[in-house]
Amino acid sequence: METKRAKVIAIANQKGGVGKTTTAVNLAAALSQNEYSVLAIDLDAQGNLSACFGIEADEQEETIREIFLAETAEEELPADYGIIYNKSGVDILPSNIKLADIEMQLITDFNRERLLKSYLERISENYDFIIIDCSPSLSILTINALAAADKVIIPALPHHLSAIGLTQLMKTIQKVKRSLNKNLEIEGILLTQYSNRTNLAKNMKEVIEEEYGKYINVFSITIPQCVKAAEAGLLGKSVIEYAPNSSVAKAYTQFAELIGGAKK
Ligand code: ADP
Ligand code: MG
Repeated sequence: METKRAKVIAIANQKGGVGKTTTAVNLAAALSQNEYSVLAIDLDAQGNLSACFGIEADEQEETIREIFLAETAEEELPADYGIIYNKSGVDILPSNIKLADIEMQLITDFNRERLLKSYLERISENYDFIIIDCSPSLSILTINALAAADKVIIPALPHHLSAIGLTQLMKTIQKVKRSLNKNLEIEGILLTQYSNRTNLAKNMKEVIEEEYGKYINVFSITIPQCVKAAEAGLLGKSVIEYAPNSSVAKAYTQFAELIGGAKK
């Protein structure tokens, strides 16, 4: 029998507030609801993904940081190290503010861009999907995520500034593809906090499609702006769990079907 290998998806955009964490949480939750085994990795020192799954990030001793440190020291931690089993069915590898110093810790490691990849190769057979929530930067952590991923999903707001920032991200992705991970593919741009009612959003969808649509997929599914998304995050739940009938939960469920295929 062929050994299973998880599909690794990085959720990346160096801009903050574009819906990376919300997308990571709800994509993970919806895939898990469709009976896929899912690991969600928090790769942001702000620990927002951990908090959105109800985890007290600052109290965690075993985090993704310790995994990076073990990898750089060429030590092998147990496969379940740091993983928190959440009642939503999603496994979570948390992070917290201590992750902020990791760049300094890795500076002398020649292999520092490939640490996450080498860790994920060891645990990959345990999951169908591994979803990585990136920080709002193009730091060494984001490079690690891109180096380890099969696909990258780019959440973006339907604003003009959002479109400008994408160029830099595309360049970084192309660089990673050339030098670290030739298999990396851009799955697409996902427009979030989208309001059908505003002309601005409609125009920006066209601008982004015109600018990038020729060579990058812009998902026809958009994630509507809906206060339930923010409420759920504050309560430490996915919106799929908190408000399954809301427009935003439905959109993420549909999006997860597009990414994962129908129920397993
Ligand atoms: P990022 O991870 O890119 O910084 P977040 O996912 O944390 O972005 O989203 C930024 C803020 O916007 C958060 O407060 C979040 O709750 C809120 N938010 C995200 N998606 C939506 C949405 N579809 N509708 C309304 N608010 C949203
Ligand atoms: Mg975030």
